[in-house]
Amino acid sequence: MTGNELRKSFIDYFKTKEHKHFESASLIPDDKSLLLTVAGMVPFKPFFLGEKQAPFPRITTYQKCIRTNDLENVGRTPRHHTFFEMLGNFSFGDYFKKEAIEWSWEYITKVLKLDPERLYVSVFTTDDEAYEIWNKHIGVPAERIVRLGEEDNWWAAGPIGSCGPCSEIYYDTLRMGENNEEINCNPGDEGDRFLEIWNLVFTEWNRLEDGSLVPLPQKNIDTGAGLERIASVVQNKDNNFETDIFMPIIRGIEKVLDIKKEDFDITVKVIADHIRASVFLIADGVLPSNEGRGYILRKIIRRAFGAGIVAKQNLEITKDDLFLYKLVPYVVENMKEAYPELVEKQEYIEKVLRLEQERFALTLKNGIEMLTEEIEKMDKEGTKKLSADASFKLYDTFGLPFELTELILENQGYEVSEDEFNKKLEEQVRRSKNSRVTVSDMIKDEFIDEFFEKHGKTEFTGYEKFEDKGKI
Ligand code: ATP
Ligand code: MG
Ligand code: MG
Ligand code: MG
Repeated sequence: MTGNELRKSFIDYFKTKEHKHFESASLIPDDKSLLLTVAGMVPFKPFFLGEKQAPFPRITTYQKCIRTNDLENVGRTPRHHTFFEMLGNFSFGDYFKKEAIEWSWEYITKVLKLDPERLYVSVFTTDDEAYEIWNKHIGVPAERIVRLGEEDNWWAAGPIGSCGPCSEIYYDTLRMGENNEEINCNPGDEGDRFLEIWNLVFTEWNRLEDGSLVPLPQKNIDTGAGLERIASVVQNKDNNFETDIFMPIIRGIEKVLDIKKEDFDITVKVIADHIRASVFLIADGVLPSNEGRGYILRKIIRRAFGAGIVAKQNLEITKDDLFLYKLVPYVVENMKEAYPELVEKQEYIEKVLRLEQERFALTLKNGIEMLTEEIEKMDKEGTKKLSADASFKLYDTFGLPFELTELILENQGYEVSEDEFNKKLEEQVRRSKNSRVTVSDMIKDEFIDEFFEKHGKTEFTGYEKFEDKGKI
């Protein structure tokens, strides 16, 4: 089953259970307390809170989501993206735990035909009702049901608002003979053996400003299943990036950057993830800036660009290196069935990406020139170590990512301390706690380390060429 077929099969299944299909809402939520749409339920928050009456008691969606809290996970876990799609079914004061559990089980075991022996479920510590439904009604044996605490199995729309216990469905990805170190773990533990595929939220409570819980006027169901994760299971891949949702984009990256996934695994995954997020953010009207959503978009674009630069080991950056816009057609081609609006926005998205990359290339160029001056100063002073003040100034004033500073220096036989830099950064964040933090970008990534691990430290003279003005 392809990603497109899977998305459709989910919606079709819930239509047979009398759900109304709603289009995916924008990534920009109609909700001042939230920067981005982080889950399928976000567009329906007023219904969950009882502020508005839901137009239908049962709704199903595939919803575009962005989670910046997973930014650092991208490419390092098999299952996290910034942009992903959440499949969901919702009940507003209509059906509750029993039907939600029954249907999720029927869908994955009967429609998707996942092996029930490989499925595990979790319930909230005190949720005996959900436990009994799984155990007695569905027949999931006790050894495959775990009770988990607040961290995993309590869902809240925010510090205040609707919340309630969850029940999660996990898929055991263990293939005998592999992942041996993970055999003795449980769903919810660290590690990648148990893949969380679906979260059923039983929204029963409203948390007030003072922290107390009051029952919602009506009990609701909110579920979310990651399309990319289910695709990985259905397509028998051990990583979301190996599915047909990502591979065409990854092939595009390999072609455009002239690199191979085998050699640059994390880099390629980071770029594939970030280009999807960028395309969808821009399509929904976000523009790169130094604040709020615009800052998130800028950060994502710059991380992707930085990943490409480091992979290519090329600081020369000519017009040909502004590669992100060249990836847009691959994303559009892959996603247009579900999001036809991308087709008409494609040209605009490419333009925005190109402009932002050009701007960042200029920033990089200035930063690298300043670093060259710092190196000259160090030579005069007879030191090999860049001061923390200087490394921080390069980052903060000139927008040069610390990792690039480090990379360039190390390749020239100089050094810089990351700890001292981080201290400066922390001081600055503390100072600006009450004002808006608009620090320039940082590409804090292990892909640079990984790159060197794989390829060794080679001479890096790119920045000299940077002096050649007028490249950008
Ligand atoms: P995890 O514990 O794996 O980080 P989660 O508990 O944070 O997931 P939920 O908030 O329960 O995730 O979201 C519902 C579903 O959305 C998850 O079960 C998963 O299938 C999917 N999902 C969540 N975060 C991501 C992500 N960053 N990338 C891809 N899919 C995700
Ligand atoms: Mg998470
Ligand atoms: Mg979880
Ligand atoms: Mg969860």
